[in-house]
Amino acid sequence: MHLSYLAVGDELLDGRVREANLATLGDHARRLGLSVDDASVIGDTNQTIVDALEAASRRADILVVSGGLGPTQDDITRYAASQWASSPIELDEQHLSNLRDQFEARGFTFTENNRRQCEFPRDADILASDVGTAAGFRLVHNNCQAFFLPGVPSEFRWHVDRFVIPRLQEVSDGGETPTESLTFLGPGESGLENRLQSVLEKGRHEGARISFLANSPLVTIEVSATDRSVVDETIAGIRERSGPWVIASNRESPAEALARRLESAGATVTAAESCTGGWIGKLLTDAPGASDWFEYGYVTYANNAKIAMLGVSESTLEHHGAVSAEVVCAMADGARSRADADWALAVSGIAGPSGGTDAKPVGRVHFGLAGTDELWHHRATFPDRGRAYVRRTSALTAIAGLIWRLDDNLDAHDWSRIH
Ligand code: ATP
Ligand code: MG
Repeated sequence: MHLSYLAVGDELLDGRVREANLATLGDHARRLGLSVDDASVIGDTNQTIVDALEAASRRADILVVSGGLGPTQDDITRYAASQWASSPIELDEQHLSNLRDQFEARGFTFTENNRRQCEFPRDADILASDVGTAAGFRLVHNNCQAFFLPGVPSEFRWHVDRFVIPRLQEVSDGGETPTESLTFLGPGESGLENRLQSVLEKGRHEGARISFLANSPLVTIEVSATDRSVVDETIAGIRERSGPWVIASNRESPAEALARRLESAGATVTAAESCTGGWIGKLLTDAPGASDWFEYGYVTYANNAKIAMLGVSESTLEHHGAVSAEVVCAMADGARSRADADWALAVSGIAGPSGGTDAKPVGRVHFGLAGTDELWHHRATFPDRGRAYVRRTSALTAIAGLIWRLDDNLDAHDWSRIH
């Protein structure tokens, strides 16, 4: 089975939009033990699209095409598809009336250009959409089953789940391949690989596929094998040998991993953020169901805000500076009692590019973690790989601290207990 992917859109070639849909398709394929065999990105020009469809369909059994199904003049994929498959365009009255109803229900005006989205090659199966205005369609030509899907990532995902996955499931032999993952914060990928050499060798020898995905400061190791017990044994071996750095498993995000722990402890958390500017709050609320354990957080960027919103004393700020153990611990304490939460995370640091000194360089970040009867502090100096890197790493490190605390192994890390 040969699976190909084709993304259509000038905006993907000229840097305005980052291509995102291949990852969606590739991820699903991998989970089913399949792979995308080739992929290309092309612009919105009729002949280019027709040529690309012709070439891809001669290689592929299944071809997934993304983009260019919208209502505007630059959305021309449907016409190119019609030409490629010699299947004339027809207006689909049923789809037109559905679309008019949808517009009416949402209080939008139906304009003439929306009719374009109801035009399909005569031989196409229409893949109706609930999520947006553009419906995808499927055409078989050159012995290739081609799925034409809207390019907006959420709509693309919806169509893939609904229409492409079932087809891929038919061609994959065993359904979903057992897969597990572990995500680490702390060690780099080469250090981890070294430490795990014998476990990895054994796993691979028994047929596991093991891959490292580095997204600094996180490293994820993914293990898949047709035999579930090989996956479980390899994961157990990795856990045992890798040290105390695991923060998430099973493809959870760090915030989801934290959510699971807070839910089972029936605990709540708040955050007092300086250099992360709300990033922790964003990560926490990315996790579905966050309202069960997160009510609100504080973005206290200026000293005044730390004083007014968290009760940090003016003299502590003056004596130690905002980026200090004393201030970050006062932030954590203040946030926890004011938000009446079980836990509070606090972060204050120097994200750069300016503001660093010899004593407090860019990348220096202090963390506080307050619980009912405890207070922890951690000081890190992250590599200065840019402002966004320092901020994201800080937010993830704060979350990791609470995960480790809830796993009762924070003292295995470089966090010190103040009381
Ligand atoms: P719709 O009619 O629902 O907008 P469409 O098929 O017409 O879908 P396009 O007009 O090609 O989609 O793209 C709409 C927007 O979706 C683009 O501006 C872009 O932001 C995003 N988009 C399209 N293709 C991709 C892609 N491959 N990866 C990421 N984003 C994409
Ligand atoms: Mg487009």
